[in-house]
Amino acid sequence: MQLVAVSKTVPIERLRAALAAGFSALGENRVQEASPKVAALPSAEWHLVGHLQGNKAGRALELFSVIESVDSVSLAGRLARLSPDGRRVPIYLQVNVDDDPAKAGFVPIDLDRALDVISGLPALEVRGLMTVGHLVADPRDARPTFVALRRLSESLRGRHAAVGAGLSMGMSDDFEIAIEEGATLVRVGRAIFGERPAA
Ligand SMILES: *Cc1c(COP(=O)(O)O)cnc(C)c1O
Repeated sequence: MQLVAVSKTVPIERLRAALAAGFSALGENRVQEASPKVAALPSAEWHLVGHLQGNKAGRALELFSVIESVDSVSLAGRLARLSPDGRRVPIYLQVNVDDDPAKAGFVPIDLDRALDVISGLPALEVRGLMTVGHLVADPRDARPTFVALRRLSESLRGRHAAVGAGLSMGMSDDFEIAIEEGATLVRVGRAIFGERPAA
């Protein structure tokens, strides 16, 4: 189980302290905000967890070790084309399991066809699936989302050998539930760094 400390809005000095305290993977949701942080703290394993615009794919590849938020075939194709020679880029496919119109990600029924294409991109290593659960009042209500992602992963892996078993799911309010349901990676911000300033 990997813990990614989501560090958006958290200043560099606090991230330096987090790394000194033993955290090794940090997550950011924006290329621009990540840029000076990655430059200051290059030893961390940086994960991109937010939507990536195609025109920032090249920059994202320079900054991040893992891209967790691949949400379209065209973005996957662009990352594959821009990936440096010899480097297989670890990615997760973001899935909109709850079919929430406000969320990015593949709709589950589209994943089979997407994977027919993405499996043919040797520059990408599909570690698994990622989801952002919908906002729920009680963390237990997040469970169906996590169960759905796990089942989707199981069925896809039966048909697409290139898909890894990774499940990136669970955030501050519901990571315990996500772990119970098989998360291999949790993305936790506020429970580590405290509340973020209002945007
Ligand atoms: C901000 C964010 C997190 C962390 O959220 P917390 O509620 O602070 O734990 C996880 N995943 C994504 C995609 C995020 O944008």
